[in-house]
Amino acid sequence: MKLAVWTYEGPPHVGAMRVATAMRDIHYVLHAPQGDTYADLLFTMIERLPTRPPVTYTTFQARDLGTDTAELFKRTLGEAYERFKPQAVMVGASCTAELIQDDPGGLGRTLGLPVPVVPLELPSYQRKENWGASETLYQLVRAFAGPNAPEAGTERAPRDPAARASCNILGPTALGFRHRDDVDEIVGLLGRLGVEVRVIAPQGATPADLARLGEADFNVVLYPETGEAAARWLEKTFGQPRTRTVPIGIGATRAFIQEVADLAGIDASAVLDREQSRLPWYSRSIDSTYLTGKRVFIFADATHAVAAARVAAHEFGFEVVGVGTYDRTFARDVRAVAEELGTEALITDDYLEVEDRITELRPELVLGTQMERHIAKRLGIGCAVISAPVHVQDFPARRSPQMGFEGANVLWDTWVHPLMMGLEEHLLGMFRGDFEFHDDAGASHHGAAPTPRAEEPDPDPTSPAEPANDTDGPHWSQDADRELRKVPFFVRGKARRNTETFARDRGLDTITIETLYDAKAHYAR
Ligand code: SF4
Repeated sequence: MKLAVWTYEGPPHVGAMRVATAMRDIHYVLHAPQGDTYADLLFTMIERLPTRPPVTYTTFQARDLGTDTAELFKRTLGEAYERFKPQAVMVGASCTAELIQDDPGGLGRTLGLPVPVVPLELPSYQRKENWGASETLYQLVRAFAGPNAPEAGTERAPRDPAARASCNILGPTALGFRHRDDVDEIVGLLGRLGVEVRVIAPQGATPADLARLGEADFNVVLYPETGEAAARWLEKTFGQPRTRTVPIGIGATRAFIQEVADLAGIDASAVLDREQSRLPWYSRSIDSTYLTGKRVFIFADATHAVAAARVAAHEFGFEVVGVGTYDRTFARDVRAVAEELGTEALITDDYLEVEDRITELRPELVLGTQMERHIAKRLGIGCAVISAPVHVQDFPARRSPQMGFEGANVLWDTWVHPLMMGLEEHLLGMFRGDFEFHDDAGASHHGAAPTPRAEEPDPDPTSPAEPANDTDGPHWSQDADRELRKVPFFVRGKARRNTETFARDRGLDTITIETLYDAKAHYAR
């Protein structure tokens, strides 16, 4: 058995909690030992939700195991119903409770509660959090929309051409990366297209809302990890088609608009002409050319990894040196995008393997989860978080979607910012000789009088020249090396290589300041 210090996903009952917490008027009774109540903190402390999740735990202790834990479960369920009076109750067991085999579903039925009791079979030792969320939503959709399903094999009636096209949005949960903001963004976009949103699930839905899912013309699947299983069942049962494009980045957002327009039978050209993002222009603008070709490593859930790899390569001009996911269920999609971009996919849920790969590839930017933020920080590499698992700072107070046109602006800001900070630091390095920016002047010169510079000893003119590179080629004199360091970092490597080639072609052993400027003049011609 391997103990993990960090884990990308929790057990499947945490996935069920993400669904219950996102919904309204539903309660989850979880057969679980005392310690499992830690999961509440994910929602109240990390996501900063103002209320506790709608979950009641049986909280059995070691001494209860010799007694009737089934009775404890029934009592807890009855009390939770009386206290919260929800429209429906979900019942299940956490990892430890699974081992005592009390059968919460069967026990729930014997109580004869006046509301539906949905049993969740979530095998904790084989499955993980995202699967748990997906399975929970699927079971709830079947339980509540199922009774309204047409007879098997019935053709779906064509939509009344006078009626507005309508859809549901499937997938957003509690504790999801920017789910609330993505939903706002996509609801707005669908509204501008003239498509009515009937039900958003699980976020904000009640069991009664789930019962109405079959009424919409089609389903928009924003997060396949949690919404696709339910959408497939709705497609099979109600004949509702579903979207396949996740609208992250400009290209995918435009493709998504066209896909929705095709499903809704509407003309999207006005919206496609009108909608704007600053990302394409920023990607082409002058200062951004310094960012082109930056080596980026991506590791996330499959949806965000695939989207980020395409956006990074095609919309930012970055070089994707590696892409991976911890979610084996969707590994095929990540392998496909890796192949498309000529790189290798990393499929693992071991963060140490991810750390090794990042160390080996030495990217200039990491796009990842909270885990990769820690890894990148340790390695001194810029990082932006693009996917769950996330920490408290990834639930910002401002709106910060990843999807749609505004989402593309947010991607620009958050991915490029770590690189721009690097640029700023290098500019400070270039002006280190200036009285305001020398090493002892502190982090910022704003609003403070320049600090007097400590006397620097003159470099010993007789000491051997420090080589600026470790190749066998010509060596750099100390003066030339110091002069080279004044060249902005983003062209310094090229200046060094050009000068060395220039010196080598002329049989020079040492590069002096004159050689550096002769080379500059030579290559400028
Ligand atoms: S951010 Fe780091 S320290 Fe904080 S909970 Fe996450 S893994 Fe632990």
